Amino acid sequence: MIHCPFSTCDLTEPLTNSTSLVIHLKDAHKIVFKNIHHMFILLERYLNHWAKEIEAKGLEKVGIKENEDDEHYIIDPAVSTADRTLRDEIQREKLNEILKVQEKERNEDAKQKRKCLFCKNICENRQHMFGEHNFNIGLPDNLVNVNEFLDMLEAKLTGLQCLYCEKTFTSPAVLRKHMRKKKHFKISARNRLYDQFYVINYLEPGKNWENFEHDRYDSDDDRRDDSWADWDEALEEENTKCLFEDAFFNTAQSARDHMKETHGFDLEGERHRLGLDFYQTITLINYVRRQTMLGVCFSCLTRRPQTVDNMEEEEERGEWLVKHLRESGCGAKVPSMETDFWKDPQFLLPILENDPLLMIFGEEESDDEPEGGIAFEKLSLSDHESDDEDEDEII
Ligand SMILES: [Zn+2]
Ligand SMILES: [Zn+2]
Ligand SMILES: [Zn+2]
Ligand SMILES: [Zn+2]
Ligand SMILES: [Zn+2]
Repeated sequence: MIHCPFSTCDLTEPLTNSTSLVIHLKDAHKIVFKNIHHMFILLERYLNHWAKEIEAKGLEKVGIKENEDDEHYIIDPAVSTADRTLRDEIQREKLNEILKVQEKERNEDAKQKRKCLFCKNICENRQHMFGEHNFNIGLPDNLVNVNEFLDMLEAKLTGLQCLYCEKTFTSPAVLRKHMRKKKHFKISARNRLYDQFYVINYLEPGKNWENFEHDRYDSDDDRRDDSWADWDEALEEENTKCLFEDAFFNTAQSARDHMKETHGFDLEGERHRLGLDFYQTITLINYVRRQTMLGVCFSCLTRRPQTVDNMEEEEERGEWLVKHLRESGCGAKVPSMETDFWKDPQFLLPILENDPLLMIFGEEESDDEPEGGIAFEKLSLSDHESDDEDEDEII
């Protein structure tokens, strides 16, 4: 639910979904925002900024027309530097805010006791809910505003709604029986209201928009087909780029193998050796990508010589780093944890869009590593009992 951002607008009712918002902005205000879905959880601030600009300067000064005859104007981050800067700024601000909230939560709120969602037990932490009820909403690393999240789930249960299929039942006993029998001790990954509680959605806004954009479907199955399945496929098709050169691989695993063999950079090995958590691993990947992009060795900070910089062919410029890594052995020398970049939140934001290297966590989910299975765990909330049956319900 969102109100039209224009103060001059006659519309008093809030817009209930994204589709009606997009239509309203186009019809009533003659404005179309490209890839507005990337601003999904940050929408209000984003729209308010542009509405103010438009009201102050006039639409013609702020937007552009794609075609002469178009009635509407467009704001496109690919064209407008101002829009790109604004999006970046809002995203960074929000991410910083979210990480601060999370830190506070882990220091303070996590120590508060809370009644179990499913029984009378008062939990010290959420271990009881995972263990006793096989209920898992994700690891603390990946969650934010956890109490609010649990409140929301609790309200659903109080309203006799199943957390997974979201059907309503006649009594607590019937609901409990349903959830146990159907193995519905998990949350619905289709519920977009939950996105705000997963930090990954602040790192890469827009990932989940497709569901938000088309929220009307004929059946649950259509919905499901449209959501994660498509997304997973899109990821599979995505090529993984080597961190050090323009070489592409079909899977993240083969890219990691290549980097280990060719450049001496062992991502999995380093994660274990340095004990990197979710954020630190993402930070390392993005940091190396950025340095490579700038023509700098991520390890010793040697810069590509000017003579190489001036070479015509992209390929030749790229070769410098590969050669440097081979000669210096820098690929195997990850900077110490004292280095500043580890604490710089800018490296939490992806340098490459849809970078499959950042998805390593999902692949390792089956391992017994607690630090794995974080980022995309939400897609397959662990429900160990349903391993054999109910296959169709695993999202
Ligand atoms: Zn309006
Ligand atoms: Zn319990
Ligand atoms: Zn259910
Ligand atoms: Zn390579
Ligand atoms: Zn080096």
